[in-house]
Amino acid sequence: MKLFPVRGGIHPDYRKGETSEKPIVSLPMPATLYVPLQQHIGVSAEPLVAAGDRVLKGQRIAGNQGSLSIPQHAPTSGTIRSVGEITAPHPSGLPQSTIILEPDGKDEWAELPPPIDDPLSADPNLIRKRVAESGIVGMGGAAFPSAVKLNLGLQYKLRILLVNGAECEPYLTCDDRVMRERADEIVDGARIMAHALGVPRIIVAIEENKPQAIEIMTKAANGLLEVVPVPVQYPMGSERHLAQAITGRETPARGLTADIGVVVHNVSTACAVHQAVRHGRPLIARVLTVSGRAVREPKNIETLIGTEVTELIEFCGGLKEPPICLVNGGPMMGQPLPGLKVPVVKGMSGILALAASEVNQGPERPCIRCGSCVTICPLGLVPVELAAFIRKEQLDHAAALGLRDCVSCGSCSWVCPSRIPLVHYFNYAKGALNAKDRDRNKVERVKTMAEAHALRVAKAALAKQQRTPKATAARAE
Ligand code: SF4
Ligand code: SF4
Repeated sequence: MKLFPVRGGIHPDYRKGETSEKPIVSLPMPATLYVPLQQHIGVSAEPLVAAGDRVLKGQRIAGNQGSLSIPQHAPTSGTIRSVGEITAPHPSGLPQSTIILEPDGKDEWAELPPPIDDPLSADPNLIRKRVAESGIVGMGGAAFPSAVKLNLGLQYKLRILLVNGAECEPYLTCDDRVMRERADEIVDGARIMAHALGVPRIIVAIEENKPQAIEIMTKAANGLLEVVPVPVQYPMGSERHLAQAITGRETPARGLTADIGVVVHNVSTACAVHQAVRHGRPLIARVLTVSGRAVREPKNIETLIGTEVTELIEFCGGLKEPPICLVNGGPMMGQPLPGLKVPVVKGMSGILALAASEVNQGPERPCIRCGSCVTICPLGLVPVELAAFIRKEQLDHAAALGLRDCVSCGSCSWVCPSRIPLVHYFNYAKGALNAKDRDRNKVERVKTMAEAHALRVAKAALAKQQRTPKATAARAE
């Protein structure tokens, strides 16, 4: 298949060898599970349980609030200790509402919804409903509710379901292992999603540095899906770059890949859809990579959602040395973790404990105008200029230069010889602009409501005036 060039990009040291040949292993049952109510982009779930309740594995313990929200399910059977707050696996380290569950060791399943009969010809609404009820989110890291994405076929003219097996982030190999060990589930899940979307063509894109995954997926696809090797080039795994490499078309600024007829789902999400539709099982576990030189024995681990990260590190033999940083996800787009006492969430594809020897440390120096950040930006932005405006707090100027199009891939920070943390500037500035937009929208909503109220009052007064002469005349008669 002909591929199209993608602008910019980098070739970092991938460091995948630590875990790529290690099969997925399961973590033993943790002593306690911490299930956050907000594990996804959208509205938090609402708890359905209270302290002292006994729950069964797969039982819904928190309900979704609206369509941009997902339910949470008990990862095993046991007793609810409390619904309280624990540290979120987020750089802020802020407390987050969480259901705390003490497992009883029986791992007893709740009654699950029955499998959907013949899902490849079932009503697509049934599939979307099952995916929503199973609490499935994008497992590549985005954690966007998958059922919402499966609705895109109702609004857009879609041509391709692109199953993302690129896994371009250094260190991470969990998708590689899932493709090698669960290829049939991915193929089935992808076909079910394509049916729900009404999409005729399915392409699985895998970076060329995963030859075994390419071979195994090609066999499993058996001609039903196209398996396409894509060049090794960070950030090839970003939705818009993958879609461009496959179709040659650019996703419009601030648009969706659906605008060019493509929907992208991660390979592990396809597995979760297979489990939900064929077996009625909600998303209560995931595979993730634990790596970094500070970890004694890096591994790919299947673990229950809500497991404390510290248990994963212990399962990997503990730490060889104090890490210089802990990361949720890959080193390029991942987020710093505030500590090890945080839970595994559905969108967590990796835990990295990085040693000093593998982090480019040192003081930030002044920009030397080398232009490297401009050359590699896959979005064609000018990071050096964006950063200059942000430093001066001129966020609107930065927005005019395309700040909102930045996908936070971190390539510019990676190439910068002056170690300027450009992507941190951009994340801060995008957050500030979003907050400003929210405030502006709020003011506009209040203004619109006030205008509507004034209009209603004026109409009522006019109606009263019009009624008055008639009423007077009627009384006189
Ligand atoms: S982080 Fe943003 S500005 Fe920097 S290279 Fe990536 S897309 Fe471009
Ligand atoms: S890469 Fe760094 S030093 Fe070079 S122009 Fe960009 S910000 Fe300046």
